[in-house]
Amino acid sequence: MNVKKILCHCDIDSFYASIAQREDPSLKGKPIGITSADRRSVLATCSYEARAFGVRSAMPSWKAKELCPEIIFVNPDFNLYREASKKFISVLKNYSELVEIVGSDECYIDLSHLGSFEIAFEICQKIRKEVSESIGITCSIGISINKFIAKVASGINKPDALTVITEESVKDFLLNLPIEEFRGVGKKTEEVFKSYNIKKGEDLFKVPLDQLTEILGDSRGLWFYNVVRGKDDREIEVEYERKSLAVHKTFRKDIYTDREAAEELWSIAMEIEQRLKRHKSYGKTLTVKVKYADFQMITRSTTTGDIFRNVLEIYSNSLKCLKRKPLLRPIRFLGICISSLEDETNALW
Ligand SMILES: [Mg+2]
Repeated sequence: MNVKKILCHCDIDSFYASIAQREDPSLKGKPIGITSADRRSVLATCSYEARAFGVRSAMPSWKAKELCPEIIFVNPDFNLYREASKKFISVLKNYSELVEIVGSDECYIDLSHLGSFEIAFEICQKIRKEVSESIGITCSIGISINKFIAKVASGINKPDALTVITEESVKDFLLNLPIEEFRGVGKKTEEVFKSYNIKKGEDLFKVPLDQLTEILGDSRGLWFYNVVRGKDDREIEVEYERKSLAVHKTFRKDIYTDREAAEELWSIAMEIEQRLKRHKSYGKTLTVKVKYADFQMITRSTTTGDIFRNVLEIYSNSLKCLKRKPLLRPIRFLGICISSLEDETNALW
């Protein structure tokens, strides 16, 4: 079945740097680099004005300073990023059920239901307007028939741009696209391509599949063979928000003492800590569940101003919950649930 797809890639323009310029308008139009106080050596990102000097993200700050002596370094503010990211995503979710969150400032959105690129264009203009009204900074959107082209399209006219590559123009677009603009082409691959005289899509298009896989390996070879032919079947992957995380234990032998219960809570807290790390999140509410041997169940919750992230916080608060009343009966089941989960945006560091 060949259903026409309309996929968009929405990307906030130099997210952290734009937030810094929004917060301090005197930074507008100036080259700035975002760098954390404790890792001052590397830039998280930089403004377009700094990029004009060749400054890039992940660059050591001394190098940025060398390329652009007037660069201003600004500390990151993750609370502001989180808040802006949430608003950005919620604007997108008003226009489609299918929103894939790629990063805090980047999403794919499926607008196939609109049925035409003209309507999608209008809607994306609206989205861009709403995003900039809601968070005070601009985003760029690429619209096309698949994720690959949409992403390339959102990047080519940045910042504050809307670029549409319709079905009819896909072929021309890809054949004329400089090889370094193909997403997935890093510096190394670019050099490899150029050593084979592959400078743009047209040159890539002429290379047979077996030769491409020989140069790049099976999966990357096939990837580039397909995308230059406008083929990318990846669907929008919607991640349903995880609202809570729970770990529990049912005991083969009932527990009778506070000390045993505390030991079990410790091991559950360790497991919770590991899972929170894996999901790059933390929680604001902690609930302890206890089931007694007679199957009666009680839960005790605590919501502190603090956040639950590491084993010590989780353990000590669960223990407090548990000790609010003495354990009068043997316990069969113990669990800890962390809810009101939030993403750990600063896991980027
Ligand atoms: Mg971005």
